[in-house]
Amino acid sequence: MSRSPRSPLVAGNWKMNLDRASARHLAAAVVAGRGAVGTVELVLCPPAVYLETVGDAIAGSGVALGAQNMADKPAGAFTGEIAPPMLLDLGCRYVILGHSERRALYGETDADVNAKTRAALAPGLVPIVCVGETLEEREQGRTADVVTTQVRGSLAGIPPAELARVVVAYEPVWAIGTGKVATPAQAQEVHGLVRGLLGGLADASTAAGIRILYGGSVKPDNAAALAAQADIDGALVGGASLKADDFLAIAQAFARD
Ligand code: PEP
Repeated sequence: MSRSPRSPLVAGNWKMNLDRASARHLAAAVVAGRGAVGTVELVLCPPAVYLETVGDAIAGSGVALGAQNMADKPAGAFTGEIAPPMLLDLGCRYVILGHSERRALYGETDADVNAKTRAALAPGLVPIVCVGETLEEREQGRTADVVTTQVRGSLAGIPPAELARVVVAYEPVWAIGTGKVATPAQAQEVHGLVRGLLGGLADASTAAGIRILYGGSVKPDNAAALAAQADIDGALVGGASLKADDFLAIAQAFARD
């Protein structure tokens, strides 16, 4: 078990799933089982239209609310977009940025993710910034290069005091929704790399305090081995976050004595 000073965080990315009633029920079930996960911070990231419903269901429970995306502007003529202050207004503390689905399907670049990360930090949101290589990139031996470019590009120019509030999620694209989880050693190798990069962007002590989550087919039966790695501080969970029992079991694996 890790002796890290960083408090563990497990976030559920519900993606474009559920309806309002099932979102409310799932949130209530997570709240009901929350006692079993000790000091692990839980974050629920429902579809934007259900943020208020889920916010009501978790109010006062200590479970935090997060969004899955946002605009990089605080307000204005951006039809269909959601501004960072609006997320705060709905009770969000976190926002997932640069998820591989946003990068691959909607063309988000590191520069876009950088602009959104700054726009999230400005009013006080905590960005969960996602990075990760594709299968082809891994097979070509380019994992370190790709992740280095993404981390440096997504977090460029952010002062250390602000960077300290960021959460990074390493999500190998080949492991997302595929059932193929990275081995704990593969994940730890990249998490160690990311922590070193954060040290270069800020300083070693800031980097030592930044939480780096693993994401990609995390399930109750593989979470403990990932949680045992020195630089894995929690999980970003997709599919398994749609079942309260599985999500809570994953969180329990990150609980400390
Ligand atoms: C994700 O989409 O962030 C994710 C990790 O999904 P899954 O857990 O389903 O692989």
